[in-house]
Amino acid sequence: MTTPRLTAVEVVGHRGEVADYLDRESSTLRERAYAVARTVTDPELPMLTLGDLGVLRDVEVTDDGEVVLAITPTYSGCPAMAAMRDDLVRSLGEVGIKARVRVQLSPAWSTDWISERGRTALAEAGISPPRHGVATTRHTGPVPITLGVTRRSVTCPQCGSAATELTSEFGPTSCKALYRCTDCLEPFEHVKEI
Ligand SMILES: [Zn+2]
Repeated sequence: MTTPRLTAVEVVGHRGEVADYLDRESSTLRERAYAVARTVTDPELPMLTLGDLGVLRDVEVTDDGEVVLAITPTYSGCPAMAAMRDDLVRSLGEVGIKARVRVQLSPAWSTDWISERGRTALAEAGISPPRHGVATTRHTGPVPITLGVTRRSVTCPQCGSAATELTSEFGPTSCKALYRCTDCLEPFEHVKEI
């Protein structure tokens, strides 16, 4: 099972909201670029915008009027990054903004940066959101590692039961693990904390 891509209708609906927002709020090129960029959706988790994910770190306008977007990769080696970059450049191009994307590696992205709206959107899509404040502690210098199965307490997004078991550490994408609820018996995906 792969995560479905947005349909044309959903994309149009999304863009419609952007247009309203621009008419109401924005004036400068930087603000317009930010307003569009933050609503671009994640290729693997299409219910989340880059704004929800917290990957959009900075928007600058160069002296010759080019917009430079700084994004921080989510999961390292995530194949969605190239798609994310292309989607950003294309979405801004559609509203007449020439943009380029720069990757900013530090500070490293954490699932703690996912907004409350994003966590709600995941749960509504039947995906268990990463818990807040349990992401890996940042280290400088040597990093102690423990090998073995990661233990998490995960709640079923269908029925809310805490009686869940890990089925597979790797789901359809490497950022998700597969779980099963032992109360309602439904399988579901969990976005891993990092
Ligand atoms: Zn359940």
